[in-house]
Amino acid sequence: MTARIIDGKIIAAELRARVAGIIIAAELRARVAGEVARVVREHGITPGLAVVLVGSDPASEIYVRSKHKQTQAAGMASFEHVLPADVAQNDLLALIAKLNHDPAVHGILVQLPLPKSVDTETIINAIDPAKDVDGLHPNNAGRLAGGFAALSPCTPLGCIILTKSVHASLQGMNAIVIGRSNLVGRPLVQLLLNENATVTIAHSRSRELAQLCARADLVYAAVGKPEMVRGDWIKPGATVIDVGITRLPGADGKTRLAGDVAFQEVSNVAGAITPVPGGVGQMTVACLLVNTLRAACAIHGLAKPGV
Ligand code: NAP
Repeated sequence: MTARIIDGKIIAAELRARVAGIIIAAELRARVAGEVARVVREHGITPGLAVVLVGSDPASEIYVRSKHKQTQAAGMASFEHVLPADVAQNDLLALIAKLNHDPAVHGILVQLPLPKSVDTETIINAIDPAKDVDGLHPNNAGRLAGGFAALSPCTPLGCIILTKSVHASLQGMNAIVIGRSNLVGRPLVQLLLNENATVTIAHSRSRELAQLCARADLVYAAVGKPEMVRGDWIKPGATVIDVGITRLPGADGKTRLAGDVAFQEVSNVAGAITPVPGGVGQMTVACLLVNTLRAACAIHGLAKPGV
């Protein structure tokens, strides 16, 4: 069997187009853009995303640039704040307080990781939960865990959208999530439960991981260990979503990106698989746009948009 490749570029582009379409694209005019036009006409509201970058980590700079470009391309306002790596925690907190009160900002994202001199938990907790488009504030994490409406982290949201491009319903499917971080694994488990999947969560202390995977219809790898998931772990026909991204030195002196899944091996067994790059990574920023739009509507007491 040769697995179908789930092309995150195409799905993410389509999703971005849907978000942009809320404002500009003809495709969603009938369902969503009419609503946005009404919001703009009646309230003069343009969803706005503020991204805060502390320091000059090259990978983070690339992510922030990409977020800026895609936010603007979707017709939203984009605000970038770049602070030095040695910024005082109180200055960062003061900026977040300002953004919390800025009516033009509906989403606030602090690019992680932060320098060690800053306490990440304190910073995340300072973000207004209504503007927490990364879905990491304990209010949102708790609401998601309780099955209530919440802003959910973008990467897990992207994983669900990718999975649903293969399976219209996840009800009753056996899923395994490898990794239990607050950023990916835990919220992904909650989103899968909301879809009525039966979920196993695995981590570094789990035993017999290969056997646990072999029972799963849906396999999510969010570990950060290149090619850890092997072909003989996978049930034939399963859907495999590879969240992992590790930069490895290539033979030509350049670096290459590797996922957590041994792609060639697993492709021969799985029914569907996401590549790295070009899979989940493509979905994360697209889902950030969705969250910003949702946050803007919620903040202004408007109905949830059609994305
Ligand atoms: P993380 O916070 O380091 O969490 C890694 C998780 O993997 C932990 O729960 C850890 O278990 C588990 N783990 C470690 N070794 C394991 C093993 N041998 N067997 C089973 N589980 C093991 O990482 P993260 O932030 O969730 O990110 C995971 C990966 O996804 C990274 O490669 C990251 O770069 C990538 N990522 C990609 C995107 C994207 O947009 N595509 C977004 C976010 C993250 P313990 O809890 O027991 O330590």
